[in-house]
This record gives sequence, structure tokens and C-alpha cells, in this order.
Amino acid sequence: SNAPVKVAVTGAAGQIGYSLLFRIASGALLGPDTPIELRLLEITPALKALEGVVMELDDCAFPTLAGVQIGDDPTKVFDGVNMAMLVGARPRTAGMERGDLLSANGAIFTAQGKALNDVAADDVKILVTGNPANTNALIAMSNAPDIPAERFNALTRLDHNRAISQLAAKLNVPVTEIKKMTIWGNHSATQYPDLFNCEVGGKSAAELVDDHNWLENDFIPTVAKRGAAIIAARGSSSAASAANATIEHMRDWALGTPDGDWVSMAVPSDGSYGVQEGLISSFPCTVKDGKYEIVQGLEVNDFSRAKIDASVAELAEEQAAVKELGLI
Ligand code: NDP
Repeated sequence: SNAPVKVAVTGAAGQIGYSLLFRIASGALLGPDTPIELRLLEITPALKALEGVVMELDDCAFPTLAGVQIGDDPTKVFDGVNMAMLVGARPRTAGMERGDLLSANGAIFTAQGKALNDVAADDVKILVTGNPANTNALIAMSNAPDIPAERFNALTRLDHNRAISQLAAKLNVPVTEIKKMTIWGNHSATQYPDLFNCEVGGKSAAELVDDHNWLENDFIPTVAKRGAAIIAARGSSSAASAANATIEHMRDWALGTPDGDWVSMAVPSDGSYGVQEGLISSFPCTVKDGKYEIVQGLEVNDFSRAKIDASVAELAEEQAAVKELGLI
């Protein structure tokens, strides 16, 4: 009886897409009682491969999957969508300068921002997973003047989950004991996973760890460089965990966060914690009734301040570079 929720995924024939689509279609995003209509965008040369993925979706006979449409035109694929997961992006290839990477992604996220602006549903929520995610989200947001800015998020949930997993292993506790983890800043090597505001069984994580050397020289770099470690081990990137995090971010944004906990979301800054307005930076967020709020009033000690400032400075540099290119 309820109308399907229209969910767009870009780069749908890619590695992340191959993990993501099946879980969305099986009900992992909004539960088994909410039908889903998938809208899958790819570049023209990847449409054939995408047809193969759709054949597999058909062959799962998922009860929650009400329909699938594919295409290479964002103004058709995004028509009426309630959620958009922007996964496809131009990867950096050998010999590519930073400016080339920003221009290539600028073209993609400018066009997609405009298309969402023109045809998405009024309640659309947009999450960017494709890298550089924060700045790609900023480009899409800047090209969609009619969509409220707060509907553009970028993914730091994978970093958040990695931080929980590393801390649980260090303290030998189940992941369910860990609450109030925060990733601050950019989804990049400068990101700052914060143990000072994190709680384990109701106690301060930093106090329980009681080892600043581990926190600074082991925990933080392990979380920040986990993607490279997985590529080294597996021979390909962390697509399944990236897909999982993309679903968890969207699910919590739609359905809410539990009492007594929060999640990390990269959202347009309102100036909270000294992060300049206009940047899309990761914060601790709670969600209620489909709206997130940045958690206020947390203590930021000198160590945390310096780490947050460094990551935010990198975001400001990326913003200046895309401004220079006329993309925002
Ligand atoms: P993946 O599906 O593995 O990754 C897609 C994007 O997600 C990349 O930008 C990647 O960034 C990023 N990403 C973020 N977090 C992670 C993570 N933890 N692990 C891995 N990747 C992460 O890439 P594929 O190359 O397999 O597929 C990309 C698809 O996108 C292709 O099919 C391509 O045709 C398509 N595409 C579609 C576009 C469109 O719909 N208009 C535009 C451009 C591409 P990073 O590489 O920096 O890790």
C-alpha cells in the first residue's frame, strides 16, 4: 500500500555499487516493509555492465524491490528521487594532477547537482561517497540553489565504524559498548577520530585507553590509513565496508539515531566548533524525524583543537581550489 521510496545510486556498476544495490534492495536501508525503487546512473560505456547487475537483482526476487530504472542521463534517472547516493567519481590515475582530478569531478558533481535541483523530490536527501567526498558534496550543493543546503552530506561513517572497531579491539570489548564516537573534519588522511568525547560502557574512552602514545601514533593513523591497508591486503579497495557505511548513514538520517548516542556525518557547517560556515565537514550528529543536528557543547581540548583545525584547513584549501576553477 505504501508508495515506493525512490533511491538513486550513481556509479552503480562499480565495486561499491555491487555491494550496495543488493543490500538496499533486500531492505537493509529502510526495513522490509518499505518498497524501494532503484534509479541507477552510470556513464554510457558502463551501461552494459549495469544491465548485468540488474539481471542479478532480478534473480534475487527481492520482495522489497518495486522496480529498477537505469540510464546515463541524470535528469531522467534523478526524476522524483527521495534519496541519492552519489558513489561514482573519477579516480585519480597515474600522472593526474590534483587540478585535473578536481576538474573531472567538478564536471560530474556540477551536472548532478543541477539535475537534482531540477528534478529530485522535495524531500531529497543526498549523500556523497565518491572522493574527494566532502568537496564533491560542496560542488553539488553549490549547483543546487533550490535544495536546502543541509540535504547535502558526505560520508565519514566508514571512518567512524573503523574507529569503533579499532577501539573495541584495543579495549577487548564488544563494539556495542562503544558510544559517542566522532570523526571530525575531512574524509582524508587528516581526519580526526576523537576518543576524548567517546564513551565505553559509560566511561571516557581516552581515560580507559590511558595511553596517549597509542592514541596519537597508532589509533589515529590506523583509522586514517585503513583504506590503503585494505588495498595492500586484498588487492582491491574496501568496497563492501564503504557500501555498508553508505547504507548506515542514509538509514540513520532517515530513521534517526538511538538515545544516548550519535554518529559522524559530514554536513554543511553552521560555524559550530569554529569550523567556518560553508565547508562540508564531519561532526557528531543526532537525527530525529529525518533532520540532523550537530551535537553542541562538547569539550575540545588543545590536542583535539589542533587536529580539527588541520583537517578543516585542508577542506578550506579544497574549497579555494574549486572556487578558483569556477565550480562553486
Ligand atoms: P568504487 O565503486 O570502488 O568507488 C567509487 C568511489 O567511491 C570512488 O570515488 C572511491 O574513491 C570512493 N570511495 C569512498 N570510500 C571508499 C572506500 N572505503 N573504498 C573504496 N572506495 C571508496 O569505484 P569503481 O571504479 O569500481 O566504480 C566507479 C563507477 O563509477 C564506475 O562504474 C564508473 O563508470 C562510475 N562513474 C559514474 C559516474 C556517473 O554516474 N555519472 C561518474 C563517474 C564514474 P577513491 O577512488 O578515492 O577510493
